[in-house]
Amino acid sequence: MPPALSILECDVGRGLFAAEVIAAGCEILRFTGPLLTLNEVRANGAGAANALQIGVDRYLDLDGPGRFANHSCTPNAGVVDNTRLVALRAIAAGEEIRFDYSTTISDGWTMACRCGSPDCRGLVVAFQLLPPLLQRRYAVLGVVQRFMLEEVEA
Ligand SMILES: [Zn+2]
Repeated sequence: MPPALSILECDVGRGLFAAEVIAAGCEILRFTGPLLTLNEVRANGAGAANALQIGVDRYLDLDGPGRFANHSCTPNAGVVDNTRLVALRAIAAGEEIRFDYSTTISDGWTMACRCGSPDCRGLVVAFQLLPPLLQRRYAVLGVVQRFMLEEVEA
């Protein structure tokens, strides 16, 4: 049974929240949506922030609750196997569920960050541009899109 979730107002619009306690390692949801190329994502303009990169020129135009998962520089969730959102630690009921968008970005897309974390990087950038230690931490946690790890290791 996937955990109960709610979509609530938050300081960046709407966000995805735990409606009950979610245990560490638990699958929160699977990202779904129509498959797009990078050109199609760029043609979407403002909607580009709703695209999840799952391959070199492959994106999901997110629908469902996954569309509302916001970014954090200190995330409580991560993306495993391209489309599974998994809890990195226990998440309290009422807590917003967020992952680090940089773990799924390899193109030139950037976003100013106001996530409020003491470790906020200020700008969300491609995975390759993260500090090497942070890249390694996410790789060890298994929450980096596979096609990007192949690029880093190559
Ligand atoms: Zn941040």
